[in-house]
Amino acid sequence: MAKALVIVESPAKAKTINKMIGEDYLVESSMGHVMDLRGSSMSVDIEHNFTPQYHVLPGRKKIISGLKKASKDKKDLYLATDPDREGEAISWHLANALGKGKDIYRVVFHEITPQAVKEAFQHPTAIDMNKVNAQQARRILDRLVGYSLSPLLWKKVGRGLSAGRVQSVTVKLIVEREKEIKSFLPQEYWEIEAELKKEKPETSNQKPETFKAKLEKVGEEKAEIKNKGFAEDLVEKIKKEEFTVSRIEVKEKKKNPQAPFTTSKLQQESFNKLRFSAQKTMKIAQELYEGLDIGKEETVGLITYMRTDSVAVSEGSIKEARQFIKDKFGDKFLPATPNQYKSKKTAQEAHEAIRPTSAFREPQKIKGFLSPDQHKLYELIWRKLISSQMNPAIIEVTSVDIQAGIYGFGVSGSRVIFPGYLSVYTEEEAQEENLPSLKEGEHLELVALIPSQHFTKPPPRYSDASLVKALEEDGIGRPSTYAPIIQTIIARDYVRRNQGYFCPTEMGTIVTELLQESFPAILDIGFTAQMETDLDEIEEGKRDWVVLLQDFYGPFKRTLNIAQVSMRNVKKETVMTEQVCEQCGRPMMIKWGRNGKFLSCSGYPECKNAKSITTGVKCPNEGCPGELVERKSRRGFFYGCSSYPKCTFTARKLPTASEVEGKT
Ligand SMILES: [Zn+2]
Ligand SMILES: [Zn+2]
Repeated sequence: MAKALVIVESPAKAKTINKMIGEDYLVESSMGHVMDLRGSSMSVDIEHNFTPQYHVLPGRKKIISGLKKASKDKKDLYLATDPDREGEAISWHLANALGKGKDIYRVVFHEITPQAVKEAFQHPTAIDMNKVNAQQARRILDRLVGYSLSPLLWKKVGRGLSAGRVQSVTVKLIVEREKEIKSFLPQEYWEIEAELKKEKPETSNQKPETFKAKLEKVGEEKAEIKNKGFAEDLVEKIKKEEFTVSRIEVKEKKKNPQAPFTTSKLQQESFNKLRFSAQKTMKIAQELYEGLDIGKEETVGLITYMRTDSVAVSEGSIKEARQFIKDKFGDKFLPATPNQYKSKKTAQEAHEAIRPTSAFREPQKIKGFLSPDQHKLYELIWRKLISSQMNPAIIEVTSVDIQAGIYGFGVSGSRVIFPGYLSVYTEEEAQEENLPSLKEGEHLELVALIPSQHFTKPPPRYSDASLVKALEEDGIGRPSTYAPIIQTIIARDYVRRNQGYFCPTEMGTIVTELLQESFPAILDIGFTAQMETDLDEIEEGKRDWVVLLQDFYGPFKRTLNIAQVSMRNVKKETVMTEQVCEQCGRPMMIKWGRNGKFLSCSGYPECKNAKSITTGVKCPNEGCPGELVERKSRRGFFYGCSSYPKCTFTARKLPTASEVEGKT
């Protein structure tokens, strides 16, 4: 019979570990957090050092009593939750709930492999209260802000709205980007390309017959072509000139591999290469980390812990990767000494990058045991690690200058001489320009001059990848928060994902404007970044968490009191319309509610008639007088007919006017 109880936070992890530590231990799962602040009230005693009032989460009572039963005849309690603040806090709550009269051990490992787990059980530690306090401070900070701002928004905008600390700053990034895009004035410019050919074509059919060079200079000046007239004028002049190769430069460039994945980089590249959202990436990474059955009765964690900002890799792992490279690719691909990467200053030294738990576990070999998505993500992580220990690629870059009178054209081509790490991992598809072999002084034949019109472009909307990158660069996110932030602002409908890119909703925009006016500090990137640094310092034991909360709450409370009076009341900003209420004949007016603008009878509260504002697009159903209205279901947003339930037309996307015309 087992002598000790081990608690982890998920059944998958429990199953993996169970097989590794033998019969002396009984492994159970807490199913995540067991205790938290109450949802119904602030649950923080502000008057008494911000003491949090925890309660057992609904649905976890049964789990706690199950764990109590399991620990009854056991003296030793091992807490093996994940190696970060959140995991530490879960362990602490478990210790509080179950630990009476027990010996409590905290076991920390970053990968779920027999070796790492056994090693951790041989060297258990105590719960790290600095980590727990950093977690409590974040939880309480978010609670203070969320539970203060939300009622204010109910009063000023609409019931049911909520606002959060880091989420609001993130929405602001998206709102500001949208404003930049809306106010952007595209500038017209033109380019001229010359399609050129060797006078004596080469016999080798490897090389292209013609190539294109771009007009770069007019005399000594950079070529700037603002309009069509000017472009056509130039074409006429250039036509008459003779084209000569004036300079050829050949350079060898080294392209170095990149470090293994941090959470942020994994989320970015997983979006760019696999189109996985940050949330999806983390869900799959967790499955890989917690362990999968990979045949021969072996259940093992396939990657190291997926929440990390470190690029460091264990010595053992580097050794394995180097052995694999040597065996598979040969010495030419292996650097004389291991490649070293530097983590950001904030990264925790004890942590590692996200890497395969064994470099020898090739994706192809375990493909049959993984879901397609698990396999894709595992392959990305595995390739990144292997490539990080390989030699750089060597690229030959050829730049050619071609002179036609006073007009200077240029073209460059590149060719991979030695693929190095690119044999395993490419960041982006390299565009190789293949040029015929040219000599300085050589004359070229002009095939065609091709002018083309272009416009300058506004900055792009954020994607999962670029948003995570921005959060990291601005210092307002941490490995554990990127994905939840994105999830929350979508759930609250402050932003929507439109073909992979984030747009703010009208509600997101107005709430951001109001918060920006009344709470400039909360919406300030620098302030939020500093708060993250302060939380890091609590974890490092350099800062007192209660003092941090006190320092924050005083000024915040004052701002909140002012905002109660001074914040614009959008609820009162109603607009009369010409529509007539079909129930009482009074005019309808536009009001704000939790889901944005809606039409309400001006006779409210006498007449309670209210309806959605239509999109102005006619219902495509023949003979239906209705217009399409945006509606929300559990599965997301869609468009329905204003004549519902008489007409049941629905569509995911708004039909265009011409599509509607075509039907009637
Ligand atoms: Zn009415
Ligand atoms: Zn209809």
